[in-house]
Amino acid sequence: MIQMAGVSKTYNNGVPALTDIDLNIDKGEFVFVIGPSGAGKSTLVRLLFLEELPTSGQIYISGRSILRLNRKEIARLRRNFGVVFQDFRLLPNLSVYDNVAFALRVTECSKNRIRQRVPEVLELVGLSHKKDVLPTQLSGGEQQRVAVARAIVNQPMVLIADEPTGNLDPKTSWELMELFEKISQTGTTILVATHAKEIVDKMKKRVLVLDQGTLIRDDVEGGYHEVK
Ligand code: ADP
Ligand code: ADP
Repeated sequence: MIQMAGVSKTYNNGVPALTDIDLNIDKGEFVFVIGPSGAGKSTLVRLLFLEELPTSGQIYISGRSILRLNRKEIARLRRNFGVVFQDFRLLPNLSVYDNVAFALRVTECSKNRIRQRVPEVLELVGLSHKKDVLPTQLSGGEQQRVAVARAIVNQPMVLIADEPTGNLDPKTSWELMELFEKISQTGTTILVATHAKEIVDKMKKRVLVLDQGTLIRDDVEGGYHEVK
């Protein structure tokens, strides 16, 4: 479903962030991306949800090369990706309900559909009872679950998370992983860039290891422990 062929990315400063990446991610896969700070994890994530374009190489989404798409087509394709960040990025003045509804309002979603879909997603992430409160009244774990609800409310093909447990304690991090697992079971592809060693070890999912911009390992049921 997502394919990278010989993808390299160099930023303006001339430092190669990714070098010659070949990668295939199928529908419904659950994939971790790990590696030391500066290894290129965020860059890989940004390329995958089309926030950045590669300097060279090809990226195909459902068989179509993204380099052949115009801006409008890229914008439409990006709706197939839901993204979650370490710092949640919720709208502080909107209720939990409206933070999630917002993601539908910016599309051509009908009001009826919004009224049906938002409660459904809040139920899935376990926050129905908090729908009227502001993000500041929530714990970190709850805020991240709102961010996840917002990311999946459009039913994207892929949920991408960049260091999603970076601001969470271990217990809350696990709850988030259980939520990702649940979302994965609905057929959504999950891609998580992380430093959280214990989580990667225990989850037994596919693991991509980046080091200085190079993909040095791709294990079906990898763990963090074997990485030197
Ligand atoms: P990671 O997420 O694994 O820490 P990044 O993808 O953020 O790695 O960074 C990979 C390399 O690219 C690093 O050398 C970093 O300094 C550089 N880099 C990342 N983003 C930018 C940017 N916007 N401009 C210039 N260099 C960047
Ligand atoms: P409109 O028809 O003007 O779009 P809605 O009836 O969809 O209005 O919602 C108006 C506002 O009421 C929303 O922005 C939201 O703040 C709130 N709201 C609507 N439904 C719910 C709900 N089920 N739970 C919490 N707040 C809701």
